[in-house]
Amino acid sequence: MALKLTEKLAYVFPIIREEQLWRLLRENIRAQRHLYIIAVLAMIVVAGMTSATAWIMRYIVDAMTIPDNRGMVFLVAGAVALIFTLKGLATYVQSVALTRAGNRIVATQQIKLYDKLLRQGVSFFNLTESSDLLMRVTQSANAARSIIDIIVTSFVRDLLTLIGLVTVMFWQQPLLSMVSLVFGPLAILGIRILLRKVRAIMEQEMASLAEIIKVIQETSTGIRIIKAFALEDRMAFRMNKAVREVEKRSNAIARLEAITSPLMDTLSGFAIAAVVALSAVQAFGQSNSSPGQLMSFVTALLMAYEPAKRLSRMRVSIESGMVGVRMMFGLLDQPETLTQHPEALHLAKGEGRISFDQVSFDYGNGRPVLNNISLAFEAGKTTALVGPSGGGKSTILNLILRLYDPRNGTVRIDGHDIRLATFASLRDLISYVGQDTFLFSASVAENIRFGRPDATVEEIVAACKSANAHEFIEKLPKGYDTQVGENGAFLSGGQKQRLAIARAMLRNAPILLLDEATSALDSRSEALVQEALQHLTQGRTTVVIAHRLSTVLNADKICVIENGRLSEEGSIDALLAREGTFRALYDQQFGGAERRNSA
Ligand code: ATP
Repeated sequence: MALKLTEKLAYVFPIIREEQLWRLLRENIRAQRHLYIIAVLAMIVVAGMTSATAWIMRYIVDAMTIPDNRGMVFLVAGAVALIFTLKGLATYVQSVALTRAGNRIVATQQIKLYDKLLRQGVSFFNLTESSDLLMRVTQSANAARSIIDIIVTSFVRDLLTLIGLVTVMFWQQPLLSMVSLVFGPLAILGIRILLRKVRAIMEQEMASLAEIIKVIQETSTGIRIIKAFALEDRMAFRMNKAVREVEKRSNAIARLEAITSPLMDTLSGFAIAAVVALSAVQAFGQSNSSPGQLMSFVTALLMAYEPAKRLSRMRVSIESGMVGVRMMFGLLDQPETLTQHPEALHLAKGEGRISFDQVSFDYGNGRPVLNNISLAFEAGKTTALVGPSGGGKSTILNLILRLYDPRNGTVRIDGHDIRLATFASLRDLISYVGQDTFLFSASVAENIRFGRPDATVEEIVAACKSANAHEFIEKLPKGYDTQVGENGAFLSGGQKQRLAIARAMLRNAPILLLDEATSALDSRSEALVQEALQHLTQGRTTVVIAHRLSTVLNADKICVIENGRLSEEGSIDALLAREGTFRALYDQQFGGAERRNSA
């Protein structure tokens, strides 16, 4: 029974069954179709001119060897010049058009990948290593580009050139051509075997590359710990191992890619030898083909070798690139962990009352972090969250920011479920200073301006003054224009924290979340910043987490969070009178001092 054309093609090119490959071509070639049309037209000219080169050999040889044809010499010479000029021009156009389209594809894919990352929720980043993301964004877009390049050049230029040259061969010497073509299918069989190996090796190579990036990242961020604990040898060992792995795999791939060449060389050698021998026999046996025809045939045969070789190697190269493309689509197709409701509404600035209604939450590992918590943060008041480490205090702030959604229950602001609000309007209401101060690699002023992009210089300076940061900023080499380094590497922990507070002050939002915001300050700076925070918290709904109880003494209400539950709630006096967890914490921190004072 006759196989369908696509099935036959799929046997020769199994890669066409790959849905991801079709998707890559569909999405990218269509977007760049103008450039690809130009490139394809140029390639048709290149293929045509290459075939014409073999074709013209007949007339060159005949013009020189057959006395009657001498008059043709100038015509033939002119045709040769024209063929080579056209080929040169077309090659230039093809190469420029392809490169431009390729560069655009890399840029588009990288933007798409990054947009996708930005839309992902925090839980996605908890689960995905940054080195893996780096790999995917940088490498896989390039893999996409190279696959498209290979397909377009091989399928259009090489295939057309091959068809053109084979046509010339058949035209000049049909019998000899049939003999030489017997060897083609043999080569295809050999290459099929190599492909299976390539895929496996490429996947391992990508994993090792990600490990190299991870080691370098960890070295850069953890250099203090590496030095302090003398971990240099261990890091060097890890790096060596990863680098050697990549080296080994690259060699294996190179070996496989290279083996297609001798395979084709040997087969072609046999083909050419057999045909040359036959052509000699034919030339002696019968004389109805001219020397030019024979020459043209042999030229076409020799020229057909290169495109045929590239076509046969194409599949190995596509297979190795497809690993990167699958990784890219893997990332683009990941479901978004936290999305904006399709009919999300703008959350208007109101009083800023936050309420938790029977909220339960876990981080996806089944271990409950918040257990059926109901509590309210009154508008314009300061509520402090205290309790043992790991109790769930930071998680409460994460839920107010909607970095995660509760498993059960509802978080509301001014009575509105925050899941039904747009991300932009929700986060507009909130200023946040976290435990780990993060600064961008930019100047001091730019870092503070992230709080409110339209702020004036005067407003930035005023915020820094309130945060007790102005004084040290003035002493920096370039003042507000000083670069802070990667994550504020040129600043002390306390200075970074004051910049983060200034950023939150500038934001001027009705809700203020402070998670251990003053933990890195010395007691003098802390007192000053506390005073600044007092101004900032005036009239704002403030939720403050602090282990040092001195920072929560001014709170209107204190909530004690233990094991994901609200164990105590009330004013400081009420809680002290209760002899509960808060009283115990209080005695632990202030009891000694009181006893010393009374002694
Ligand atoms: P601390 O006072 O030490 O900052 P906390 O009361 O703020 O502690 P949370 O940071 O809310 O506590 O953490 C509560 C629990 O959730 C802890 O047991 C912690 O191990 C776990 N946890 C926190 N973040 C994650 C996360 N991203 N993935 C998984 N578990 C997490």
